[in-house]
Amino acid sequence: MTTETPQTDGSRIRDALLTGSRFLLTSHARPDGDSLGSQLCLAAALRQLGKQVRIVNADPVPESYAFLPDAPTIEVAEVVKDTFDAVVVLECSSLDRTGVRGLESQTLLNIDHHAGNAMYGSINWHDVSACACAELVSDLVDALGAELTPAMATHLYVAILTDTGSFRHANITDRTFEICRRIAATGANPAMIAAEVYNNGSIGRLRVTGMLLGQMRLEHDNQIAVLTLTDGMLAEAGCASDDLEGIVNLPLAARDVQAVVFLKESEGALRVSLRSKDAVDIRQVAVSYGGGGHRNASGFTVDHPTTATRQDVIDRVAGVISRL
Ligand code: AMP
Ligand code: MN
Repeated sequence: MTTETPQTDGSRIRDALLTGSRFLLTSHARPDGDSLGSQLCLAAALRQLGKQVRIVNADPVPESYAFLPDAPTIEVAEVVKDTFDAVVVLECSSLDRTGVRGLESQTLLNIDHHAGNAMYGSINWHDVSACACAELVSDLVDALGAELTPAMATHLYVAILTDTGSFRHANITDRTFEICRRIAATGANPAMIAAEVYNNGSIGRLRVTGMLLGQMRLEHDNQIAVLTLTDGMLAEAGCASDDLEGIVNLPLAARDVQAVVFLKESEGALRVSLRSKDAVDIRQVAVSYGGGGHRNASGFTVDHPTTATRQDVIDRVAGVISRL
């Protein structure tokens, strides 16, 4: 933790990156489109400037993002032993979200857009108005004086496309489209990228989607959709556990559904993803369980759930809807 005032732009982080020469980039465990796109784009910008860059995450790149340029350069490790001029932590509201050990004593550059960031960095650039961390990375690429290549534009587009729920979330602004205009101007191909991300899934994922929706429960006057996934269902469907991104959003397509509770039971623990429409702030439910995220997309893990835990989560979401 630090008492450093959060930065309103990336200038101090730019200065730290221009001064140093050896960097580590990391992001949250179970990486998503924004964490991967932001890391790969910033890494490419730094390499253009002749810097040495390693990217280390706690978990591997999911299959649906394997097409990202430079994805094979990402290392997977639970601990980092080396020291660096700085470690750039992207997309993490707290340092433990990385799932990577050995970072605590390093110079940390914290770049994030989640509400409730713990300001754990030596320099903290925290902007909740950004629709994706990639919006901040886009500014940083310019500030560093790097050139936006088609590969880097592809990284940014994947991040923005996925973190805005395919351009559906409330945090989209004119700046989002200005960045997307620049992305398209480099020659990156939005239709090809969307097809890679969304039309390239496994049959196992399709089967598990059917099972989840088939067993979906509706509560609180159809306003809460509850999806429950077990390891047994994944095995039966032949679906990888990291091949589930986006499924949680499907019940929101129904007019009546205001929130989705996605319960993932694995090896005794319960991982919960919450999604909601507009004014329904489900982040407060995630925070009440020690998690976090955004108003309409958040999550948490309960290590030792009791039989009452699942219903308690649903009751807390119902409470948020009732108080509107
Ligand atoms: P997910 O449902 O896992 O896709 O997560 C949705 C959002 O909540 C993402 O922005 C995550 O970074 C955030 N999130 C998920 N789990 C946690 C957690 N345990 N602590 C803080 N933020 C979380
Ligand atoms: Mn994000």
